[in-house]
Amino acid sequence: MKTEALNACLNELVQLLGVAHVLRGDAPGCDLSAWEADWRGRRRGRALAVVRPACTADVAQVVRACARAGVALVPQGGNTGLVLGGTPDHSGTEVVLSLQRLNAIRQIDPDNLTLVAEAGCVLQTVQAAAADAGLLFPLSLAAQGSCTVGGNLATNAGGTQVLRHGNARDLCLGLEVVTAQGAVWDGLSGLRKDNTGYDLRHLFIGSEGTLGVITAACLKLFPAPQSRQTAWVAVPNLDAAVALLTLCQRHLGPALTGFELMGQAALALVQRHFPQLHLPPWQAAPYGVLLETSSHDDEANGRRLFEACLGEALSKGCAQDAVLAETLHQGQALWAIREHIPLAQAKEGLNVKHDISVAVSKVPGWVADVSARLLARWPGVRIVNFGHLGDGNLHFNVQAPEGEAPADFLAAHESAIHAVVYETVSRWGGSISAEHGIGALKVDTLQQHKSPVALDLMARIKTALDPLGTLNPGRVLPKSGRPPNDQRG
Ligand code: FAD
Ligand code: ZN
Repeated sequence: MKTEALNACLNELVQLLGVAHVLRGDAPGCDLSAWEADWRGRRRGRALAVVRPACTADVAQVVRACARAGVALVPQGGNTGLVLGGTPDHSGTEVVLSLQRLNAIRQIDPDNLTLVAEAGCVLQTVQAAAADAGLLFPLSLAAQGSCTVGGNLATNAGGTQVLRHGNARDLCLGLEVVTAQGAVWDGLSGLRKDNTGYDLRHLFIGSEGTLGVITAACLKLFPAPQSRQTAWVAVPNLDAAVALLTLCQRHLGPALTGFELMGQAALALVQRHFPQLHLPPWQAAPYGVLLETSSHDDEANGRRLFEACLGEALSKGCAQDAVLAETLHQGQALWAIREHIPLAQAKEGLNVKHDISVAVSKVPGWVADVSARLLARWPGVRIVNFGHLGDGNLHFNVQAPEGEAPADFLAAHESAIHAVVYETVSRWGGSISAEHGIGALKVDTLQQHKSPVALDLMARIKTALDPLGTLNPGRVLPKSGRPPNDQRG
């Protein structure tokens, strides 16, 4: 695209938002790394500019201006995504559309149990606002201090409460969206029943900024639980972990809200990089499971049920040892260990990441199969396996053998390791991306593993909603639509 056309578009954006909110990549001394680099430090793209609108009307104007000029827009919230969906490519022609200034909580309706938040609200702020009203917004993930409601919905985030409350999709009753043409769709009614044709909300949720820009969402709230119990259980193997899950579901029913698995290699990294966190004394156990229950029963009753369940698990051999947190603080300390695993991995160095799912019952078989293949071909690799076992979702990451430079290992083996893992996942009927999405990172992998019929339908939806292909091009699907700035009618 011609420099004059890009400059004309930038000038129009400055007119709309003011010079303070159009940060140009080529301005002297301007550092855009907070928006250009991804959280994992894998890629530093180059943006034409970062624009920071403050309200929905501004977003609509920005989208219209960029569509007219054929300039690609990359929506961005907290920039915690793990698949290069919200950072610009290297072309220097994409504009990052930061939603961070749209950060108002517009409404809390305690009788309808809903909260309307703008897209740039940080997840933790929404959780706190719900708690202040004596209610619960259950979406919970380790990035919650930085990730935003818009990003959570655009990626259909999962996290640690999916077992009980579902993904972000299940927690959203409505959206406000700026379309690729710059129109505003107000779907914030907060209705729990509305069968008036296609459910547009579900098209935009999980579309990773490729079909529209989410500017606000109506979220579901729940009565806050009266008591919460947390336990750490050491388990001898994955079959035992699945047996423990079945037992807990039978005993505790919907009170079971979290069931997180942590492999020994993952815990060893936490211990190495965060020695101030006190791990329970069974680090040698092959796996630890973090269990959480939340109930409307009183504390004593909830604890009695939980203890009975753990007692049976110990007697049946699906648990080797167990500790039940005595206080809220102890419970939080156990969760901190789980939440520090991704951070410990980042400190250890680059690793080959996978975010897969298979049916819960197939997890032990799949892990045994893929681990044997990986270790046969790359002896000494460390398999850092942890995640949301209750949802069949594992973060199955492969770290260089001890002593080998992580970046060199990644450069030499990443694609071959991906191929082995994804081939096995497909053979076991699983998904190559359980919760992080596709972004720019897994576009080719998706093309290889999704059915041609599904890919064709997805491409038609993209063309119908964004015919110019200016919204987050090359994320989720290969670039499509008319080339940017094509002047044909
Ligand atoms: P960004 O990273 O800014 O963007 C993510 C994608 O959404 C991009 O494609 C972007 O274009 C699009 N987007 C952002 N905002 C909008 C908008 N308003 N409208 C349209 N599109 C938009 N994810 C999980 O699912 N479960 C986890 O347990 C989990 N744990 C994590 C732990 C850590 C330590 C980290 C760093 C990340 C984790 N993630 C997890 C990934 C990430 O936090 C989530 O994907 C999160 O939902 C992204 O939100 P964000 O605001 O940072 O979005
Ligand atoms: Zn996760």
